[in-house]
Amino acid sequence: MTDTPQTGDSGTPAIGTGLTEEVGPMIDLIRRQIRATGPLTIPEFMTLALQHPEHGYYRRRQAIGATGDFVTAPEMSQVFGELLGLWLVQRWMDLGQPRPVTLVELGPGRGTLMADALRAASAMPGFVSAVDLVLVETNPTLQAQQAERLTVYNPRWFDALGAIKPEHPTLVLGNEFIDVLPTAQFAVVQGAWRERLVAVNEDGALSFVLGQPQSPVLPLLPPPTDGQFTELMPSLPGFFKDLSALLRPHGGAALFIDYAHDDRAAAWSLQAVRDHRKVDPLATPGLADLTTLVDFDAVSRFARGVGLSVPKPVSQRDFLLVLGAWQRFEALAEAAPDDAPALLQSLQRLVGKTHMGERFKAWTCSFPETLPPPAGFPTTEAISADDTGRPDGVGSGGG
Ligand code: SAH
Repeated sequence: MTDTPQTGDSGTPAIGTGLTEEVGPMIDLIRRQIRATGPLTIPEFMTLALQHPEHGYYRRRQAIGATGDFVTAPEMSQVFGELLGLWLVQRWMDLGQPRPVTLVELGPGRGTLMADALRAASAMPGFVSAVDLVLVETNPTLQAQQAERLTVYNPRWFDALGAIKPEHPTLVLGNEFIDVLPTAQFAVVQGAWRERLVAVNEDGALSFVLGQPQSPVLPLLPPPTDGQFTELMPSLPGFFKDLSALLRPHGGAALFIDYAHDDRAAAWSLQAVRDHRKVDPLATPGLADLTTLVDFDAVSRFARGVGLSVPKPVSQRDFLLVLGAWQRFEALAEAAPDDAPALLQSLQRLVGKTHMGERFKAWTCSFPETLPPPAGFPTTEAISADDTGRPDGVGSGGG
């Protein structure tokens, strides 16, 4: 999704009408399943629509890029991947420059981020040759593109984080990965939590209904008060167990960047994007990307719960600027003055407050606790995100 213009519902296809041939098999499959076993939870619906082996969005669509459905940060500017590469080098040095070091990317898309990151990181002698590159990807088309771009680094592929064995100190990276994890949605009706489910109308169209909670996360929800909404990714606890099992045996760190929830108690955030426009999430399953905003408070809670150290997240804007995005832009613009306007525009999309800069957050965790504070993150809760990262916090802007 990313820097998609907020087109609202104006481009929304009407539910139950105008279904193309293409969407037919997936809608039929979902209808059959609902008629056989009852309404689907949203995680069940998202898993079918995104991951079904034959018709799932992430199995068959060429989603990313100008000709796909959405454009991501690494596809906008090489500066994004380069700065993340330098961040990884810093973390590798913090870990004592282990060789080998396992470098995992979750959902690497077209491989652009990792290619930019490793190119920039090759400035640090010894890092790239130490890297044991592992890619976690479910889309065979994207896997092929990753293989093409990253073949010189000899990557290995896995289907899931939990399938990777912890053999060495490990660094994990994921841009716009957490937002594809299925999310369950709830609302309080007459003093009790109800779950938002996907049902079939008599005319065959899909629609949302509220029903008895089915996703196994009820104990994780706050006490119900009328009018309350919330959403939660049921796979997050298991995901952080897997991450902890990977980072704790030999030490390591993870960095995730994602579109963040402002206030998960205020709204549900499931959205579908197709061809750079927001569309109705129920209208074209399998043909549109489905995501939700990431609740980094919940992410931090689960990560701390499995013993990982977690500083406060920062905005993508502050993160990239502290890591040197502006200086990198100036160097690129000086080397290619004709490209300067386009370079500036792409930098603005990454860090501009009305573009991705504020809405996207960088979040990190690490193990062991004794690892130095990560570059680009405030060292304590009291240090402002504008602080330049002085480790002792002296002279920080406060608050
Ligand atoms: N990180 C890339 C792509 C983000 S889109 C970028 O910034 O450009 C999400 C990515 O996650 C895609 O590569 C998609 O195929 C992959 N993906 C989606 N669900 C996944 C899953 N369950 N396991 C692994 N990868 C998944």
